[in-house]
Amino acid sequence: MTNRVESFELDHDGVTAPYIRKAKVMTVNPAYPDCVISKFDVRFAQPNQEFLSNGALHTLEHLFATFIRQMTDQLIDVSPMGCRTGFYFVFCNDQDPAWVARLVRNALIDVSRFTGEIPGASRKECGNYREHDLDEAKSWAEKFLQVPEEELVNVYRK
Ligand SMILES: [Zn+2]
Repeated sequence: MTNRVESFELDHDGVTAPYIRKAKVMTVNPAYPDCVISKFDVRFAQPNQEFLSNGALHTLEHLFATFIRQMTDQLIDVSPMGCRTGFYFVFCNDQDPAWVARLVRNALIDVSRFTGEIPGASRKECGNYREHDLDEAKSWAEKFLQVPEEELVNVYRK
C-alpha cells in the first residue's frame, strides 16, 4: 500500500492564492467506514512568491483556534504550514469546501475587527508568547477577504 504525502503532489505553480482546497478525506477506523475526517488547505500567500511572518502566522493560529471553535464543534485542528503560506484545517466528517470558505471568511472578519489581548498568548499559555503580530495578521485577513467565497474554492482560477 502506498501512502504518499498528498500536498507534495499539488502543483504549487498552478494554484492562485488565497484559496481553500479539500486536500483529503480519511477514514478514522476501518471498522467504521462512515466515520471520516476531512483536511483542507487554506492558503493565504501565493506559493514561492510571498509568505507570512512567523508573528502573523502565530497570531492567526491563536485567533482561528478561538473563533472557529465558537462557530462550529466540527473543528479538530488548525495548524500553520511550515512554508508559512497558509494553514491546514482538519474537521470531523466530510465537509464541503463552500462551508469551510464561509467559516474561514467569518473568522477572518472577526480577526480584522479584533482589538485587545490575543487569546492564549501569555507566557504560561504559549510556547513563544513574544512572537505575535496582530497588525500583520489583520492585513493578511483583509487580503484574504477581498476574494469572494465562491472564488476561494476555485483553486486553479487565473
Ligand atoms: Zn502560541
